[in-house]
Amino acid sequence: MRIDVLGVGFDNLTLDEALEKASEIRGGYVVTPNPEIVWLARENEDLRLALCEASLVLPDGIGIAYGAKILGRPLKSRVPGIEFATALIARLASENKKVFLFGAKPGVAELAAERLKEKYPGLIICGTADGYFKDDAPIIAAINEAKPDFLLVCLGAPKQEIWMREHAGKLQAGLMAGLGGVLDVYAGIVERAPEAWSRSGFEWLYRLIKQPSRYKRMMKLPLFMFKVIGERIRGK
Ligand code: UDP
Repeated sequence: MRIDVLGVGFDNLTLDEALEKASEIRGGYVVTPNPEIVWLARENEDLRLALCEASLVLPDGIGIAYGAKILGRPLKSRVPGIEFATALIARLASENKKVFLFGAKPGVAELAAERLKEKYPGLIICGTADGYFKDDAPIIAAINEAKPDFLLVCLGAPKQEIWMREHAGKLQAGLMAGLGGVLDVYAGIVERAPEAWSRSGFEWLYRLIKQPSRYKRMMKLPLFMFKVIGERIRGK
């Protein structure tokens, strides 16, 4: 049973429970929508379907947690995509499993691979590819050749969700997850908000200060909140 927040169903799991479920998935994919993605899915049918058909739908931002709470269907916890991915990578490293990094600007995935291998010595990075391709056939061939246990798909929304839906079950990959700017963070190009900011629910503000160009995208956050409050008032 998923918890509905403006038409997107979220799995009600803690991070540990999400990792447990992830270990059972073969050939499926994980999405980590934030309010902006939920808002986008209202207008983009391909994205909406990609979210619905995911094996795991994890609530990325504090906005989703607040939204669910306001709607009277609180989630156990929020599970940021980056925390899910990092915990899964740490687990896979201890089992000498294979990870493939796909997305971000040329060179970023390679840099992220170096940093991850320093941090998790047992980790096998079995391939990398940037996210600015004209034809994804060579990338698909490389993935099928490498057969990763975990494929990180970091193309931004909605491109990554739509790409995963199209390829789910057809790739030689154990599990894939759509993770936005996570490779930029692993590579050290973009900083994640300090612990205190994210714990108090202000990670979005930190990102806005660091990358003011995001303001247009972030305007969807108040729209999302107004809609949630409207639905609550109407008793939906
Ligand atoms: N990106 C990509 N291909 C594209 C568009 C974007 O690989 O065609 C990458 C971009 O370089 C960045 C990530 O996708 O690394 C999206 O990052 P953003 O911070 O916008 O994602 P969020 O985490 O906010 O969803």
